[in-house]
Amino acid sequence: MRTEIPAVFGSVFAPEMPIVYCEDGAWGELQWQPSNELKIHPAAHCLHYGSEIFEGMKAFRHEDGSVHIFRLDAGVERMRKSAAAMSMPVPPVELLKNMIVEAVRRAQEEVPDQRGALYIRPALIGTEPNIGSAGSPSKSAALFVLLSPVGDYFKQGSELRVLVETDHLRCAPHMGSIKTGGNYASALYWTMQALEKHHAKQVLFCPNGDVQETGASNFVLIDGKTLITKPLTSEFLHGITRSSLLTVAKDHGYSIEERHFTVDEMKERIANGAEALLSGTAAVLSPVTVLIIEGQDVAVKSQSEALKLRSLITDIQYGRSADKHGWLTKV
Ligand SMILES: *Cc1c(COP(=O)(O)O)cnc(C)c1O
Repeated sequence: MRTEIPAVFGSVFAPEMPIVYCEDGAWGELQWQPSNELKIHPAAHCLHYGSEIFEGMKAFRHEDGSVHIFRLDAGVERMRKSAAAMSMPVPPVELLKNMIVEAVRRAQEEVPDQRGALYIRPALIGTEPNIGSAGSPSKSAALFVLLSPVGDYFKQGSELRVLVETDHLRCAPHMGSIKTGGNYASALYWTMQALEKHHAKQVLFCPNGDVQETGASNFVLIDGKTLITKPLTSEFLHGITRSSLLTVAKDHGYSIEERHFTVDEMKERIANGAEALLSGTAAVLSPVTVLIIEGQDVAVKSQSEALKLRSLITDIQYGRSADKHGWLTKV
């Protein structure tokens, strides 16, 4: 019997995790420890000054039982960029890759059967015990990898209401492309307001009408066979699912427009039948069903292209179509 898919996304973990400590720029030995506790000093830099970054990837079980990590190299590269941007020690490529592959290998039985996946959550935290170091980087850090068997983040076929927010930012504009905890905390107030006032679980941040992304997913407009999405700026997270989608869509004859677009343009296109989706490792590609614009529900009438695109990605992840771009790493 394989692991069942837990009811709540991200709440169940493989029992052990790899951890490596870094002291004054020197990375120590890889250690294994229980994943349900972590000993750090209450003065640790991460707890007071937000020196924390993370990644999100997934491993998938194929029909033959083998387990494959999707876009491991891209995740490792992005984590190193996040670390550098936050003035934290940058984990060496091989160290980080080996930790992830070895952790997934040891937890193979925790990878659910098809439709589910093993979510991989590497995290790096600043551990220097010094509350006087608000103005300097943490000299020590811990790098660990949590694994969590998961199902769908958004229940398939259900309503996905997205509030279009034009007044506020998700996070500081120069921080958007970094996967750092504070960015998510800073978006929460607006997310809770959206839930309370509009029954919307997601907020699409569009400061001054510029369509950007939601709290944890990229946003793509689909108009016929054209995908429209914001070009890579520092304001938003450069999703690996987004880049995979654009590559695969191009392979299948879609045209791609990476450009700025406004809420007005989006509204007009949606009224004329365009679709929209949220893109991310957790969400995969999830079709939007309602956009709430200026307080009004605007129905997204169709989800069929979005679902077609979703299958193009999931077919590669589950080994049902060829891995032409070399995105899978077998553990
Ligand atoms: C992780 C994340 C995404 C999606 O990135 P993927 O690499 O596709 O998982 C999008 N937006 C934000 C804010 C994120 O944190």
